[in-house]
Amino acid sequence: MCQSTPTTTVHPVLDGCLTPPADVKAINFSPGPCNLPEQVEDEIKATFDAPRASSMYLSHRSPEFVKILQDARKYTKEALCVPDNYEILFMHGGGHGQFAAVPLNLMSSPEDKATYLVNGTWSKRAAAEASKYGKPVVISSENEDGTFTSNPDAAKYDPDSKYIYMCSNETVNGIEAYRLPKLGPDSPPLVVDGSSDLTTKPIEWEESNIGVIYACASKNIGHPGLTLVIIRNDMYGKQQNICPGVLCYEDNIKADNAWNTSCTFNIEVTAIMMKWICQEGAMPEMEKRSIIKSSMIYDVIDNSNGFYSTPQEKSIRSRMNVPFDVAGGDVEITNEFLIKAWEQGIIGLRTKTPFGVGKYLRASLYNGISIQQTEKLKEYMIEFMESKK
Ligand SMILES: *Cc1c(COP(=O)(O)O)cnc(C)c1O
Repeated sequence: MCQSTPTTTVHPVLDGCLTPPADVKAINFSPGPCNLPEQVEDEIKATFDAPRASSMYLSHRSPEFVKILQDARKYTKEALCVPDNYEILFMHGGGHGQFAAVPLNLMSSPEDKATYLVNGTWSKRAAAEASKYGKPVVISSENEDGTFTSNPDAAKYDPDSKYIYMCSNETVNGIEAYRLPKLGPDSPPLVVDGSSDLTTKPIEWEESNIGVIYACASKNIGHPGLTLVIIRNDMYGKQQNICPGVLCYEDNIKADNAWNTSCTFNIEVTAIMMKWICQEGAMPEMEKRSIIKSSMIYDVIDNSNGFYSTPQEKSIRSRMNVPFDVAGGDVEITNEFLIKAWEQGIIGLRTKTPFGVGKYLRASLYNGISIQQTEKLKEYMIEFMESKK
């Protein structure tokens, strides 16, 4: 259990603590980093007992590691049905690294334009970062009060754009595109931040004209420190001179993902995770589970007579992150909800974020959360609501 500082008496869970009471098993609904499926965690543990050295201390140029890298690519390709004309990179720098890498690689000069569809926290940050290196044309659906409750119209893109940027699941705001847009063959290529939903639904690579899609690993495909970047082979080699090598698609592709020391252990974790996704039935199965899990929680909210509420209308509700308030955001009841959840091992519903404490809690239902674990949250939410009647 977390130690609160001597000067405060705040309950650890209200301070963002992620450790439940000693004898209770944790179910981690954090928005990221989050748990991996149990079988994946077991297989990761087993790598430490393998006859070969752990990938934590394998040279990134050793034959053992080259095999791990090949596996990571193979299972990623299989899990996501990546066509042959795309390169797969495991890079550094997380989602934010790609906020910079995308404009640096795809806008050849600071005068180049790109359309940024902004429908939440992360796409807004990406557009701000892009403005350091080029001219983003922002189409935003931000409301006057700073919230997001709809999507901008993608068809209004600027035709001179080098690319059209979007985030397919806005993790903080709880807005998801269940399918990527198909803007037609004459539209600029689509660049997608899939950090919090990649692998959880099918991708139509050609129809959606995907130029680049990326995901930081810490939501659905691994742990923090690795960014999966998938790049169509006509999209690299146009970078600005100032593009750092570590973020440069061309340099990393030409160096076969070993331009500098790759994140060896993270790549093995993602290889194991992608293998698990393939074995379970890949994107169609992950999507099926996501629909089941998110429906369970949204149904409780919708049938609660307003005891719980969620900000987004049905057609855009995220299957990955379910924001909800308790008793209209009443602080005392919300805190009681969090503490009693914690007592049952249900954690991560309110984590510390750079975006402050809003009235919404958030249940994140990534690949590492099972249907049974979601059932526990559902039962708890019903039980808590009943106790307040
Ligand atoms: C978490 C997240 C990010 C930020 O990723 P970092 O690895 O922390 O840089 C970016 N985009 C989306 C959609 C996310 O969910």
